Amino acid sequence: MSVTTHAFQNTLAYAQQCDAHDPLHRFRAEFHLPQHAGKPALYFCGNSLGLQPKSARAAVEQELDDWARLGVEGHFQGKNPWLYYHKLLQEPAARLVGAEPDEVVVMNSLTVNLHLMLISFYQPHREANGTRRFRILVEGGAFPSDQYALESQARLHGLDPDEAIVEVHPRTGEHTLRTEDLLATIARYGDELALVMMGGVNYYTGQCYDMAAITEAAHRVGAYAGFDLAHAAGNVVLRLHDWGVDFAVWCSYKYLNSGPGGTSGTFVHARHARNKELPRLAGWWGHNEAERFLMQKGFQPMPGAAGWQLSNAQIFPMAIHKASLEVFEAAGGMEALRAKSERLTGYLEFLLRDYQEHAARHRPAKALPEVQIITPSNPAERGCQLSLLVPEGGRALFQRLTERGVVADWREPDVIRVAPVPLYNTFEEVYTFVQLFYELWPDSVA
Ligand SMILES: *Cc1c(COP(=O)(O)O)cnc(C)c1O
Repeated sequence: MSVTTHAFQNTLAYAQQCDAHDPLHRFRAEFHLPQHAGKPALYFCGNSLGLQPKSARAAVEQELDDWARLGVEGHFQGKNPWLYYHKLLQEPAARLVGAEPDEVVVMNSLTVNLHLMLISFYQPHREANGTRRFRILVEGGAFPSDQYALESQARLHGLDPDEAIVEVHPRTGEHTLRTEDLLATIARYGDELALVMMGGVNYYTGQCYDMAAITEAAHRVGAYAGFDLAHAAGNVVLRLHDWGVDFAVWCSYKYLNSGPGGTSGTFVHARHARNKELPRLAGWWGHNEAERFLMQKGFQPMPGAAGWQLSNAQIFPMAIHKASLEVFEAAGGMEALRAKSERLTGYLEFLLRDYQEHAARHRPAKALPEVQIITPSNPAERGCQLSLLVPEGGRALFQRLTERGVVADWREPDVIRVAPVPLYNTFEEVYTFVQLFYELWPDSVA
């Protein structure tokens, strides 16, 4: 679905009309909205911590009750027997990322899962022709945890991270990466590349990378392709299986609304499902289910992503995640959400540009600051977040917005990230935000 920006209007009545016609508007009522001065805050921080689904509490209470009532028997006799709890999440999580159920498992937390995947899919070695295949390609300015994970994995193999890790940066004067540059760099490093490991959507710029093209390019040079989908899962439509991605990991507490520090998802492509040659860190929950309780020596991994599990399921964060994924299902899945998301973020972009282009009409008395949207304007190259590069005075503006009940986030040195989320944000909130944004701009520096 393309965004018909030309039809947008910079009026409150228009924004309210969009909400009235929005088939997903009713899902807002399924969430607890943080309050500011007796009204719902303008919450645009779902990229950092998604809001609490109202169903989360009952989901946790169900498990607390079973624990109280049944003790250890809850593993078998609970409403959702704990022994199999992770299986309840496989299908909805797989639908969310475009995977087969066996390709997905929910476990641990994100950086832990990234390390588990790197143990399996980053294996520096010498090729038969003598080439050293040892490099990892990553986007420059990746999320710090990913940088540290890659760095420490390189060291684990006795390598110098500065040599092993190849960062691709935007061209001078640009803020986002060009796919052509990424593909050319992959081709240039060729058979020295062991792994291409990138974010799916960059946390800072909001750019969504062409994961299909990147995966294909990685495979063409004989490298694996893996993605950290922390900012992509629940935000954009993913087709991990069809794209042929080797592995992916994501957290559940950003767009997936599953609570602070919540559990994480892992994808391993079906082609690796029965590959026992892949090195891995093993634990009893990844062991052949039929023999798990024989408590015998000799690890036999379960086929599929389940074979990477270490520990028995963390029921409480998983209960919240289960409740949250049910909301995604009820909303019609990612396609439906994405259709709204493109419009909602398109409207935010339209309003910001409208102010810039018609400054005199909106604020005849004052000059307007030059705000640059560094997120790509092509909807296919972004999720719901827009990253606004603000000139001097931006920090003061951000402070004032916060005082007026806007929850967005400030990223040093000069970016405000705003993420309107289709499950619970409205067109009216986007309208009000942009009004405030220009109204509150400090006079002294504007
Ligand atoms: C949020 C985020 C993380 C956080 O990792 P945790 O292990 O969940 O603390 C890691 N990587 C990326 C890209 C993120 O956006």
